[in-house]
Amino acid sequence: MNLKSLTQPELANILKELGQPAFRAKQVFTWLHKGVRSYDEMTNLPKGLRDTLAEHYPIHAPKVVRKQESKKDGTIKYLWELSDGNCVETVLMRYNYGNTVCISTEVGCRMGCAFCASTIGGLVRRLEPYEMLDEVLFTQIDSGLPISRIVLMGIGEPLDNFDNVMRFLELVNSPDGMNISMRHISLSTCGLIPKIDELAAKKLQISLAISLHGPNNEIRNKVMPVNKAYPIEDLLEACRRYYAATSRRIHFEYAMIDGVNDREQDAKEILRRMKGLPAHFNLIPLNHVEESPLKPSSKAAVAKFQKILEDGGITATVRRTLGGDIDASCGQLRRKHIKSNL
Ligand code: SAH
Repeated sequence: MNLKSLTQPELANILKELGQPAFRAKQVFTWLHKGVRSYDEMTNLPKGLRDTLAEHYPIHAPKVVRKQESKKDGTIKYLWELSDGNCVETVLMRYNYGNTVCISTEVGCRMGCAFCASTIGGLVRRLEPYEMLDEVLFTQIDSGLPISRIVLMGIGEPLDNFDNVMRFLELVNSPDGMNISMRHISLSTCGLIPKIDELAAKKLQISLAISLHGPNNEIRNKVMPVNKAYPIEDLLEACRRYYAATSRRIHFEYAMIDGVNDREQDAKEILRRMKGLPAHFNLIPLNHVEESPLKPSSKAAVAKFQKILEDGGITATVRRTLGGDIDASCGQLRRKHIKSNL
């Protein structure tokens, strides 16, 4: 067990068993969420307690294996080594509305999308809550840049690691921790319907993003195997339920792939399907992934697609690509093996 994955009441229980007063929980929690690497940094704890905690609950911190900075836009990509030797990537993007960190939620991914580097090699394991927290914390510490927003859009499918992700959200939102507002957090999913319903029931103020990438089952089946389990009609029904439960407008991500999903008729089909569902579309010209033969749509095709959506009453923006020169854009993050693949 890792103390950094625990809430304050849970920490209080552990400390109580060690004969400690209740106020210690807040002290320990605050230190852990500052990113201390050793209990000796917790200067307001008695020495005996620090030693006991160190013996039973080692503090983990990820190691920077590689740090790359984009020359174009200042985006920074970290490759972290976790305590078991697995590696994941985190990206820090500098927007004028605040520094945003894009975190991984799993080592690898089992969703198998045809255009995405994160799924190559499948799922190795899910990240623990503290490992996601550490991505945010140590990105902030290493870069010296205060982080105010988080997107769960790195490696992995967040809803396939539901309980750990929910706990991470609670931790990172905590006023005694990083205190990042739920409204500044976006979670993206490829469309795991039962989990979307579970998320809706929690009525969080986070933004939900759905990776749509196709207007119908025929196209979606080709590029997103998850669609065979959760077809588009059912997915959009789940989105309607989500909106009814939370009143939060849903964001749809749409990677534009040349000759696959970028025709006029595809945009028109989206308009028909989205009727009555408040939505925002994020069009992402496909980013290059070496192993994939798929190509990005032309600028003209993207512009035309955007216009059809907008004329039909759906707001649509074309996502600015950040960190392209360091493979830090959507779909380019991958689990690396420290030994073989650096
Ligand atoms: N598994 C979640 C979280 C990943 S978010 C999900 O699927 O939503 C990363 C986003 O980038 C997703 O919308 C994903 O579909 C998209 N993406 C993946 N590969 C891409 C590529 N090569 N070009 C553009 N976007 C891509």
